[in-house]
Amino acid sequence: MVEEYPRNLTELEAKFGTEEACRNYLARLRWPRGFRCPRCGGERSWPVRGVLLECAGCGCQTSVTAGTIFQHTRTPLPVWFRAMWWVTTQKNGASALGLQRVLGLKSYETAWAWLHKLRRAMVRPGRDRLTGRVEVDECYVGGPEEGLPGRLNLEKTLVVVAAQEDGPGIGRIRMRQIIDASAESLVPFVQDSVEPGSIIHTDGWLGYLPLEKKGYEHEVTLLRRKKKTASQLMPRVHRVIALLKRWLMGTHQGAVSHKHLDYYLDEFTFRFNRRRSKSRGKLFFRLVQQAVAVEPVTLDRILHPEATPKAKPQSVVAT
Ligand SMILES: [Zn+2]
Repeated sequence: MVEEYPRNLTELEAKFGTEEACRNYLARLRWPRGFRCPRCGGERSWPVRGVLLECAGCGCQTSVTAGTIFQHTRTPLPVWFRAMWWVTTQKNGASALGLQRVLGLKSYETAWAWLHKLRRAMVRPGRDRLTGRVEVDECYVGGPEEGLPGRLNLEKTLVVVAAQEDGPGIGRIRMRQIIDASAESLVPFVQDSVEPGSIIHTDGWLGYLPLEKKGYEHEVTLLRRKKKTASQLMPRVHRVIALLKRWLMGTHQGAVSHKHLDYYLDEFTFRFNRRRSKSRGKLFFRLVQQAVAVEPVTLDRILHPEATPKAKPQSVVAT
């Protein structure tokens, strides 16, 4: 479909002031080629009681929000649309307190849960992998950080980061929380994040050695014999790591727990990979598009992600 989105807040309010307008927009994004019955794949339907669609083939009733992150929501869709607009227009990311204030929500917990639902829509299902030359390194986040005030509400946690080279600058990134820096943790991350045949630039750590056998060209920079520091030799990935740490401390004021870290990494990646997009409306479009493409998630699941099998087995992060 043609990418159609509001360009500013005034247009958002004018276009999406009613439940019906929001539903129609969600339907166009979810079924760009027209209605598809989730049960039989039928393409003909008629409306029932306003919000439901009944399949002409099998009689099954569905709605445009069923099976999406808006499933069973009691909040009017225009409020969700305002939330998504606000989340995508905050350059440095969205905090639950900020969202609560902007929407006038009564509870902080609601705002917090909404942001977590939206973060799950920041990973595009089936996203493509990085290509070309890619710098990869690990870092610890959490604990007291040098040069940053305060500390993250997080035990020291290992995160591996991949940053695509774009001339002297940084292209797209991927990142993931890992349990250790062994080859068993590092190599699957690279395989999920970077196309084989690409050049992976790392330091001399042994955990990266098997990459060559997995179809990557592996470029190693040994730090010991160089006068330069790691951040000078692999400037892109170190720049990303510094920005990530500042973002966790700044926007989220360190209030990120271990079990939710992966979703914050998703949000950071979503924003970073679209940082040059001139139109905020386009980010809004992507978020809504992905919000109708990902499975619904319950509050219980958000609060206890460790209690269920990992939702995202390939939990590399959004494009
Ligand atoms: Zn059907």
